[in-house]
Amino acid sequence: MAPALHDELAAAALAALLDCAREGYAPLLANAELARFVRPRECLYLYSDAASFDSARPALDLRQKLGVAFEVLDGAAIRALEPALAPIFERGVLFSNSWHFSNPQGFLQTLYEQLAAQGLKLERSTVDAVQPGTDHASLTVSGVTRRFDHVVVATGARSAQFAGQCGDPVPLDTERGYHVRFRGAQHLVSRPVGWAERGFYMTPMSDGLRVAGTVELAGFGDTRNRSLLDLLTFSSKRALPALDTPDSNWLGFRPTLPDGVPVLARSRASARVIYAFGHQHLGLTLAGVSGRIVADLIAQRAPPLDLAPYAATRF
Ligand SMILES: Cc1cc2nc3c(=O)[nH]c(=O)nc-3n(C[C@H](O)[C@H](O)[C@H](O)COP(=O)(O)OP(=O)(O)OC[C@H]3O[C@@H](n4cnc5c(N)ncnc54)[C@H](O)[C@@H]3O)c2cc1C
Repeated sequence: MAPALHDELAAAALAALLDCAREGYAPLLANAELARFVRPRECLYLYSDAASFDSARPALDLRQKLGVAFEVLDGAAIRALEPALAPIFERGVLFSNSWHFSNPQGFLQTLYEQLAAQGLKLERSTVDAVQPGTDHASLTVSGVTRRFDHVVVATGARSAQFAGQCGDPVPLDTERGYHVRFRGAQHLVSRPVGWAERGFYMTPMSDGLRVAGTVELAGFGDTRNRSLLDLLTFSSKRALPALDTPDSNWLGFRPTLPDGVPVLARSRASARVIYAFGHQHLGLTLAGVSGRIVADLIAQRAPPLDLAPYAATRF
């Protein structure tokens, strides 16, 4: 079945951003201290059943049409690439031109230390409200309102309240996702490996194998869904029988809009309020280009691509 037109438009908008993802990080990765956290590696996506690969074909065709480079592999080719995998995968898709972080926290910590040394001031507070203005914008924190030249709303899945205060109701929700880590098991695969039917990735990180994925629609509560954590543990051990027991787990709140396309735009009420939220499963990947777009909007420079598809007013 062919994807609907609005799906194609959304996919094109995402593909255009993804095309700029690497370039968006380029200014940071010119710095050797930061570049050491990035590994250029193909990414392998697996199907344990040829029928489910066939049903994914229209989505793969759309990616191909949008310029995404990949190669389809059979079971023998998968095992040759990743010998520690159980022989249960019938089809694989190997995406070229991809890269991953070996330690996102280390990357951010290093970036923060470098910026702090250059004078960046970081203040942590919970913002209660954003007030748009004509030549400024304000934030209210614990009952105190402060004026700024610009305010950037980049509060992830919790951004809808602030967009609403600036005249832009957005249907933002959270897709909760889980992660388990197998410390020291990173050597079992040589690249990020995803299992399509089970909806997760296994990525070799500097401290272990990170298994992350699942989608849960259940709001912002802190309670972790034991059965989804067990699913990640059980499924990753099924894929990589040499895995032992995970030593940590984590719950995250992906910010997701109905079309899956982030909002990167000025607010309706004020050019001084800029939005950067709704990056769903791709926020780390798209952080560089999103930051570049925010900086361009503040500096009144032309952004690297037409921002019309990313407007908050599209809903
Ligand atoms: C299990 C899992 C695996 C993932 N894997 C990948 C991956 O491999 N690649 C990828 O690209 N993406 C991945 N993602 C998605 C990625 O994590 C998100 O897209 C990204 O975190 C969104 O970034 P953000 O800055 O918009 O929001 P967040 O990262 O959620 O940050 C929002 C920030 O706003 C702050 N905040 C919220 N409300 C307020 C307030 N009222 N006042 C002040 N501050 C506030 C929060 O404290 C937080 O610091 C994954 C997500 C999950 C859950």
